Amino acid sequence: MSFIDNLKSTMKNFAQKTSDVVEVQKLNLAILQEKDQVKKLYTKIGEEVYRQFLLGNDLGFNDKCNEIALLEAKIEEFENKIMKLKNTKKCDGCGSEISADAAFCPKCGTKAS
Ligand SMILES: [Zn+2]
Repeated sequence: MSFIDNLKSTMKNFAQKTSDVVEVQKLNLAILQEKDQVKKLYTKIGEEVYRQFLLGNDLGFNDKCNEIALLEAKIEEFENKIMKLKNTKKCDGCGSEISADAAFCPKCGTKAS
């Protein structure tokens, strides 16, 4: 093979390798996007299992659901502490955060407790 032919071949291989690298990057991105969709579906399944647990339906994940219930209680406790610090409370009707001394919710009109 002449020097020129050799150089042409090397450049052709380089171009092929570059396009392969781009293709691999595209495929890796596609994999990440698919994995993200799978994760979202796992989350939906988990939420449905927890919803069923709250309805009293045992789908065989009660230990994990009890853990979630404890974590949810902690979150509510922290939210209540924040509302106390901000001098607000949660509306019983719509769940909006309203002033602690409001007699009625300005959003839904529910009498504040
Ligand atoms: Zn309200």
